[in-house]
Amino acid sequence: MPYTIADMHDLDRTDPLARYRERFSLPDGVIYLDGNSLGALPRAVKARMDEVVATQWGEGLIRSWNTHDWIDLPDRVGDRVGRLIGAAPGTVTVADSTSVNLFKALGAALRLRPGRRVILTEKGDFPTDGYVATGLAELMGQGHEVRFVAADELASALSPEVAVLLATEVNYRTGARLDMAALSAAAHAVGALTIWDLCHSAGAFPVDLGAVDADFAVGCGYKYLNGGPGAPGFVYAAVRHHADLRQPLTGWLGHAAPFSFAEDYRPAEGIARMRVGTPPILSMQALDAALDAFEGVDLREVKAKADRLFSIFTAAVAELGLSLATPADPERRGTQVSLRHPEAYAVMQALIGRGVIGDFRQPDIMRFGLTPLYLRYEDVWAAAGILREIITSAAWDRPEFRRRAKVV
Ligand SMILES: *Cc1c(COP(=O)(O)O)cnc(C)c1O
Repeated sequence: MPYTIADMHDLDRTDPLARYRERFSLPDGVIYLDGNSLGALPRAVKARMDEVVATQWGEGLIRSWNTHDWIDLPDRVGDRVGRLIGAAPGTVTVADSTSVNLFKALGAALRLRPGRRVILTEKGDFPTDGYVATGLAELMGQGHEVRFVAADELASALSPEVAVLLATEVNYRTGARLDMAALSAAAHAVGALTIWDLCHSAGAFPVDLGAVDADFAVGCGYKYLNGGPGAPGFVYAAVRHHADLRQPLTGWLGHAAPFSFAEDYRPAEGIARMRVGTPPILSMQALDAALDAFEGVDLREVKAKADRLFSIFTAAVAELGLSLATPADPERRGTQVSLRHPEAYAVMQALIGRGVIGDFRQPDIMRFGLTPLYLRYEDVWAAAGILREIITSAAWDRPEFRRRAKVV
């Protein structure tokens, strides 16, 4: 073991991010390494929910659409998310799920590239992106092709046939990170547009959509942003596209004047045209309150600490001989550790049984999310110790740990 518990205590004592742990409500006896799938509960959320339910809804009733400005909440929360991803004010709105936002962004992007028929995307990435692209291509009936290629072939597969490069910055399974700046430049060089899926990026490390000149982006509210189960996602469109942007889900709240109840659809100005229907105010208030946890936080420090946690965790389990699916180079990865084991599912269940919560992804991957705002060095060190015990003693080798739950 290259590190001792005393080293961990020293690191925690001098950690500039240590004070942010207080902003979260964490259960005793649990080391939570699944913030990449469902973020932990920020303390501010409960107080906000109490207030919103009792006062805004309970007493304000329908008046709260105006008095509490519920109607513009999607754009206000969008701007807060925008600050974490390098998006200018007025370019992000919070709405719907990531899948639905992808549909809208891709529909808009394809209309901006008439005559091009290829949607280029990464093979083996989170399937919803490919499913949505395929479904939209079928619906359009214009012969669009969704072309799946390996991550390292994306750049060379860009050609003047490509309408849109649809790519997830960080692979959900391996944690490998694409070079967003280089791929964006390569896409633009052939006249293609980009849609970046930031599900494993937003809130995890610095993202600068402005600097990479992204066209569109989407992402999740319930992973690193800690907005709660089923929190709405977000969608970004660069200002240069706003005037010509037409998205296919032309719902009434994306109308320029929804309360005119006009016969014809006329899109709202700016990013508001990405809205569809009535926003889920309770979930959106929870996400808004959750974003308080990022106030004053420097995401460069978050990534630097995640990288140190990564080194500690991987060094502490190195003797087990598990293969590391995540790139060793910090620039080439997000903030999760993925380890392979032939019985990854059972090992993960045994870990969860001991209070270390990560998750499993097909076929043989154990994922451990490193979320520096609420994880201490000592937590990650202890989790690695428990993983060592479980593997060296084969404690995972029991029938109950092999039984698959509906959600893994
Ligand atoms: C989590 C995740 C999603 C989730 O999509 P939903 O529509 O919110 O269920 C989409 N894409 C990627 C890459 C993800 O990791």
